[in-house]
Amino acid sequence: MELSEFKAGLDAWLDENESALAPPEGIEHLDQQMVRLSKVKAAVYDAGWMRWGWPEAVGGLGGSTLLRAYLGAALTERGLVEPGIYSMTEVLAPTMIDYADPALAAEMVPRLLRGDETWCQGFSEPDTGSNLGSLACRAVRGPDGWVVNGQKVWTSLAHYAQRCVLLTRTGTLESAHRGITAMFVDMDTPGITARPIESMHGHPEFAEVFFEDVVVPFERTLGQEGQGWSVAMDLLPFERSTALWHRAAFLHHRLQQVLDVAPDGALDPAKVGEVTQLLYAFRARSRGTQWRLHRGETLAAETSIDKVLVAAAEQAVFDLAEEALAEKIILEDDGPAERWRSEFLYSRAATIYGGSSEIQRNIIARRLLDLGNDR
Ligand SMILES: Cc1cc2nc3c(=O)[nH]c(=O)nc-3n(C[C@H](O)[C@H](O)[C@H](O)COP(=O)(O)OP(=O)(O)OC[C@H]3O[C@@H](n4cnc5c(N)ncnc54)[C@H](O)[C@@H]3O)c2cc1C
Repeated sequence: MELSEFKAGLDAWLDENESALAPPEGIEHLDQQMVRLSKVKAAVYDAGWMRWGWPEAVGGLGGSTLLRAYLGAALTERGLVEPGIYSMTEVLAPTMIDYADPALAAEMVPRLLRGDETWCQGFSEPDTGSNLGSLACRAVRGPDGWVVNGQKVWTSLAHYAQRCVLLTRTGTLESAHRGITAMFVDMDTPGITARPIESMHGHPEFAEVFFEDVVVPFERTLGQEGQGWSVAMDLLPFERSTALWHRAAFLHHRLQQVLDVAPDGALDPAKVGEVTQLLYAFRARSRGTQWRLHRGETLAAETSIDKVLVAAAEQAVFDLAEEALAEKIILEDDGPAERWRSEFLYSRAATIYGGSSEIQRNIIARRLLDLGNDR
């Protein structure tokens, strides 16, 4: 299917079905957002839209990745899904397709696409964030599979998830990134405990996850033993590409709302211009990234530029909202005020999740501009 045909068909379908899928006015708590996410994904999957842009081998209908870039943008721009929780599909499914046993990917990916399941990404640990190569959650060979012991933290949606793409240490700590193995873990396996953490925006979006003698069948290894770093390097660019295109559609929608509801004279036109420019700079950059994916190119370190730009744009949009709607955000207690407050606070995390802006700048300096190593 061509993009123009997809857009016309999807827009018409959404015009017809939007009211049945739309959230209530004001704030929705995470439990409700998760329920609606599943409902929206099931509806767009059953109508075929969610299957375009994914390989037929995993239940897709084929076609360009631009189709799923458009779908996610349409859903977030219309406010039908929250972009952060929707993004897990774009972050995790492509790497599952690249690294899981084909039969496992064919069985599992449709469940994620249709919203029948939630998956999470178990990378960060209490002593391992930016320096991912030092992770310590250990897996050793047992008679029935890997035996995993250790802890992850900041694992988004772990307490809702049925599966986890998990990075473990199978080599020595000294072997750094060479001793890491990735696996696809069922979250109901005995020995796994997920304890939600409430973040300052008021929702328990992530969790700390404990593994105590958790047995993971060897068939669930993603790639080969010791290949976990390649899995992570495959996954991270997906976290910084189409998922961010969807996020920018949501930011564009919020910027428009700020302009619509700001009291007369509350906004400095120069500031509005600056924020709009930041958002368009990101969208121009990300548009190129979407086309590179469409052409089948492998994404890598250059997606760090996309991440730095989107984080700056997100914070600028919500800084503007705070400036324009300060009285409402601070003093009022209705749903919309609570939502603006919550989203403003969440925007502070934009320079942290998916790799902090400092780390992205390091990658840009070292790997793209060849400015030398960290000292
Ligand atoms: C909302 C949210 C959702 C998240 N979801 C997930 C998830 O689903 N799965 C997951 O695995 N993780 C997740 N994370 C964790 C995230 O990936 C890490 O927080 C991030 O990589 C930073 O790691 P850290 O928190 O350990 O900070 P640290 O690595 O300890 O960094 C602390 C500060 O030091 C700076 N810094 C560190 N090293 C350098 C350096 N070499 N040069 C310059 N500055 C440096 C950092 O930029 C940062 O400002 C999430 C985080 C947030 C906020």
